Amino acid sequence: MKNNIIIAIDGFSSCGKSTVAKALAKKLDFIYIDSGAMYRAVTLYFLRNNIDLNDAEAVDNALRNIHLNFQTKDGQTLITLNDEDVSEEIRQMPVAEKVSTVSAIKAVRVEMVKQQQRMGRSGNIVMDGRDIGTVVFPDADLKLFMTADPEIRAARRYDELIAKGENVKLEEIFDNLAFRDYQDTTRAESPLIQAPDAIVLDNSHINQEQQLEFVLSHLKPLLKDRSI
Ligand code: C5P
Repeated sequence: MKNNIIIAIDGFSSCGKSTVAKALAKKLDFIYIDSGAMYRAVTLYFLRNNIDLNDAEAVDNALRNIHLNFQTKDGQTLITLNDEDVSEEIRQMPVAEKVSTVSAIKAVRVEMVKQQQRMGRSGNIVMDGRDIGTVVFPDADLKLFMTADPEIRAARRYDELIAKGENVKLEEIFDNLAFRDYQDTTRAESPLIQAPDAIVLDNSHINQEQQLEFVLSHLKPLLKDRSI
């Protein structure tokens, strides 16, 4: 029996999973793991090295050469790809455009899930993604399924990228989210689906504080039992 607490947060692209996950991790002093950042870093490696996604051997070799790590610096969680901080680059459009295709490859998923499960043994964690409550940690202590109106999601993502100085169009963001949602929900390998025991959180019209309150109310009995 596991002793640590695992909170799994799944849901559509850009619906605020990481914001809720980070706030929860901070409040509870849990480790936050952004599984999407791992798929993005793999995608960046594949793009930089022109890996042919249809060549299974090339994909396997590439996966063997990819070493991912999370580090905390000035209160921010960074992801490194072979010791290089790629936290900013993995958020840019070239990666966003390819990540759903790369993450549909079985070998990629097998390797990432293995690493995520290993991280899940290291302490109390909050992990967000698409298959955390269904595949990575089917026995998670709390499962959340997040969703929000697609237009609201696109507008939020657009504002974030513009604030970072990126030159993007709202329509392009909307189309990318719709495309990723489609690919993520229809792929053969662990598609995005709501776990039957997940609690749904639609944050189209509620603020971050209200979302945190909602999650904490569902966590109360669990935290009380473990005196957290
Ligand atoms: O969470 P984020 O939007 O950064 O994830 C980027 C992409 O990585 C998603 O669109 C999805 O294709 C993939 N992903 C996944 N499984 C996860 C997390 C992310 O397939 N657990």
